[in-house]
Formats: sequence, C-alpha cells, structure tokens
Amino acid sequence: MADSHKEALAIRFDAIGGPEVLRLVDVEVGDPGPGEIRLRQTVAGLNYIDTYHRTGLYPMPLPSGIGMEGAGVVEAVGAGVDALRVDDRVGYCWGPIGAYATHRLIAADRVVKLPDGVSDDVAAAVLLKGCTTEFLVERCGKVEAGQTVLVQAAAGGVGLLLVQWLKHLGARVIGTASSDAKAALATAAGADAMIVYSRDAVAPRVRELTGGHGVDVVFDGVGKSTFEGSLDSLKRRGLLASFGNASGPVGAVDFAILARKGSLFATRPTLFDYYTNREEIERYAGRVLDLVARGVLDVRIDQRYALAEAAQAHRDLEAGKSIGSSVFVLED
Ligand code: NDP
Repeated sequence: MADSHKEALAIRFDAIGGPEVLRLVDVEVGDPGPGEIRLRQTVAGLNYIDTYHRTGLYPMPLPSGIGMEGAGVVEAVGAGVDALRVDDRVGYCWGPIGAYATHRLIAADRVVKLPDGVSDDVAAAVLLKGCTTEFLVERCGKVEAGQTVLVQAAAGGVGLLLVQWLKHLGARVIGTASSDAKAALATAAGADAMIVYSRDAVAPRVRELTGGHGVDVVFDGVGKSTFEGSLDSLKRRGLLASFGNASGPVGAVDFAILARKGSLFATRPTLFDYYTNREEIERYAGRVLDLVARGVLDVRIDQRYALAEAAQAHRDLEAGKSIGSSVFVLED
C-alpha cells in the first residue's frame, strides 16, 4: 500500500511561450489513489511534442507540467492495483502530461513493465519514439519487404528508429538529413541512400534513385518545409504519412493536389489513435521493447540533461542540434 507523501522536483509552466517559460519548482506528490501508482522516476524522455505543448501549438489547460515519457521504479501502489508491486521497473509514453519530474502519480494501466534487457534510460529514450515508429511502419504505412520508403529527418530520434525498423523488415530506405555528419549516422543505422536536403533537392534525387518511379511510402515528421517534396517523391498511388511539425505545421492543403500528383494517399496520424487502450499498449509497446531487448533496435542517446536544463534541452531540439534521442537524467 501507499507510504508517505513525497517532495519532488518538477518542471511547470504558467503561460505558453519560448523555452524560458519552463520553471523548476518543488511540488508535493500525494499518495496514489485507487488504480494509481507513485513512481520514483529515474529518467524522462524529451520529445518534440513537448515543445508543441509549451508553445501552444497543441493547446492545453495551464498552469501545467510537461513531458509524456518516463521510466523508473514503483514506489507505492494504490488500492486495486494488482499487476504491479513496489520496486517494479516501469516505463510509459501515453501521458498524462507531467513526465519532467522526479516523482509522479500515474494510472497503473498507463505503464508497462520493463524487461531486464532494457535499462531505464533506454526505455525513456525509446518508448514514445519507438511506439511511433511501430504504428507508422506496421499499422499506418503497412510497409512490406521490397518496398522503397523515404524517411525525412532520418538522423532524428524517430528517424533513426524508422530506418532500423524498415531495414529489419526488408524495405529499401532513402533518408534525408541537414548535414553530411547526420547523413552518415543514418547510413550507419542502415539507410541505403541519403540526401542532404539543405544542399540537394529531394524529389529529383529520389526519382534518380528509384528509376523515375518514386517511393511507395514517405514518413515525414518535418512538416511544413518538406511537404511538397514528400508528395513529389511518391510513386503513383503512394502514401504520405505526415506525422509531425518540426519545421512548422503543414497548414491548409488543396485536396486536389493528391489527384494532380498521382492519385496519392495522405494521412496525418498520431500515436494516441494507435494506442487507444490497455490491450494495444501491452501488445504494441511489448513489440517495441522486445526488438530493443533483442538488439534489433539500437537506441542512441546523444543528449543527456539535468531537469534544471529543460529550457536548454528544448532550445537544442528546436534548433535541430540533436541527433538520436535526448533524455533528462533525474537521479545520480
Ligand atoms: P527529432 O530528433 O527528429 O528532431 C527534429 C529534426 O527535424 C531535427 O533534428 C532536424 O533534423 C529536423 N528539422 C527539419 N527542419 C527543422 C526545423 N525547422 N527546426 C527543427 N528541426 C528541423 O525529433 P523527434 O524524434 O522527437 O520527433 C520527430 C518528429 O516526429 C516531430 O515532428 C514530432 O512531432 C513527430 N512525432 C509525431 C508523433 C505522432 O504521434 N504523430 C509522435 C512522436 C513524434 P535535420 O537537422 O536532419 O533537418
């Protein structure tokens, strides 16, 4: 059962704005209610969606905590929680918001137990991005062996996981990145060809690489700046999965553009419509954790921050400085 209340450190913000709105504060975390656990978090994940919450692109009630993803140890369990015990290691990425914190309460059915082969920091680095990769490749794009796929921002957190998952199932992968150094990382992760999109136009190069046909599927988390190039890279009846806004939202689109560019399909999917209940969380997150534990997915953590550095972490992510995943280390 629950033990005493806990002092915790957490990042909160009172108004939308730049990274400077993020404040480190003391909070008190109560005992878990029915169906809840109290988690001593060891690591929290940094994700682009956190910046959308901070800027108001994805509106939410304020003041608020921030962060969707974390990992740590169960410290107390509330009434009716049978599946978890004190000292179990767990992770999550399906909200509710409030992961940038040393301790928190969360519903027991929103977390998954971590296998021995997956450390806390890897879990906090891979759950949200890995589950995004899982739904994009397997259930949204339904990519098959032998297909050719374009991954925009292939050296980013989601990008490197997409490259590895697609290669694992036998697809051919063309990636984009803003520098030769980032392109080299995506190549090392398995990309068959890379385009440095700060230098070379993407669609003409994709046509060259595909004998003029274009790719079967594009995964595009960059948004505004890559949208047209993504459509122009598709083969007839190809699919664009536009899943993010790193350069800004795509905005209003002339529907007929899909006809003009070859009877294309386009979707704007989110993780939360593919992980809607306990069964989906267990089944599909289990698949991600299994691929990590078996070494099929190599999770790069290139940026580690203290909680007090949350504003700097957001600046680095928004400046496109990061590669792979970024995490907040919450205890020594
Ligand atoms: P990344 O690590 O991929 O960082 C974003 C990358 O986008 C940058 O590193 C940069 O790579 C590229 N980029 C291109 N233009 C810009 C720009 N103007 N400003 C900043 N970056 C730019 O982030 P994540 O892995 O956390 O997320 C990737 C995308 O996936 C995001 O758009 C995010 O919102 C989306 N996402 C969507 C989900 C969903 O459910 N729909 C769930 C999870 C993530 P480069 O330097 O190579 O250009």
